[in-house]
Amino acid sequence: MGGVSLLRRPATPHPVFRPLAVAEVDPVAEHAVSIGFDVSEMPVFLDYRAGQYVTLRALVGGEDVRQSYSIWVPPSRARREGVIRVAAAAVQGGRMSPWLASEVEVGEVMGVLPPLGEFVLDEAEGPRHHAGVVGGSGITPVLAITAAALEQHEESTVDLVVANRTRESTVLGRELDELADASGGRLRVSHVLSRERVPGVRHGRIDALVVRDVLGDVGGIEGVDDWWLCGPEGLIADVEAWLGLQGVAAAHIHRERFTSTGPVDPRGTQRS
Ligand SMILES: Cc1cc2nc3c(=O)[nH]c(=O)nc-3n(C[C@H](O)[C@H](O)[C@H](O)COP(=O)(O)OP(=O)(O)OC[C@H]3O[C@@H](n4cnc5c(N)ncnc54)[C@H](O)[C@@H]3O)c2cc1C
Repeated sequence: MGGVSLLRRPATPHPVFRPLAVAEVDPVAEHAVSIGFDVSEMPVFLDYRAGQYVTLRALVGGEDVRQSYSIWVPPSRARREGVIRVAAAAVQGGRMSPWLASEVEVGEVMGVLPPLGEFVLDEAEGPRHHAGVVGGSGITPVLAITAAALEQHEESTVDLVVANRTRESTVLGRELDELADASGGRLRVSHVLSRERVPGVRHGRIDALVVRDVLGDVGGIEGVDDWWLCGPEGLIADVEAWLGLQGVAAAHIHRERFTSTGPVDPRGTQRS
């Protein structure tokens, strides 16, 4: 009789929300916070890859809301400190993000799903050259990927084009600067601001042509091994199409979309 195995299901554990207390809340831009969870006793949250996200579940105004937020610290740091950190930027009219950005306090307990996601840094033997194009809170997974990529090989390099409205609204801007300062020139960050003029910083709306110009100034797109795109839908689609026209193979273009619920202004003007 060989029928028994037909009824047996593979023993993959069903992911469940774990109640976690918020251990830290820190502003990381105007209307954006980093939220840390102490997971030192919960290895399932530390076993993640750079670029993955967790799903948060909370009762907000009486409504059971679930949203995903990318972990911005690289796995090495999370394991060292026993803390995972996500960053949320308030989306105007949103259910969860304004609550996270302005109301959540240390001690608040919410449901958290263990890390998931395919927008991840792969293992690599030798040095690699990465390029990232991000808008607003799209920096979160790319910051973790960048830090992990720099750790992966001492000769790996990263060029980032980072679009925001103003310096104040630049999500995780200080953390980005600190990483660049510590990188010995291996991380180069080019900011593009749409609503503030700063000497030496590119001003205007970001699109593929701007990305081409900015990266052209720091060496061009030749030799880029992996592309990391994260931000408003319009920006990702534009840059992805342009990279395709330049002959960059799809396998080398990684992208994460933060929303699939309608068009988003590529300038990021819906975001704070
Ligand atoms: C894999 C993944 C990772 C993510 N990581 C992060 C992260 O690290 N940090 C972060 O801040 N967000 C991240 N997001 C987006 C986040 O999950 C929420 O979608 C966002 O915070 C809005 O949730 P809300 O409940 O406030 O808005 P909702 O109540 O869901 O939406 C309210 C309105 O805002 C619009 N909207 C929804 N999302 C966006 C958006 N991203 N930009 C502009 N308008 C939007 C909707 O169309 C709707 O009109 C991620 C999303 C995904 C899928």
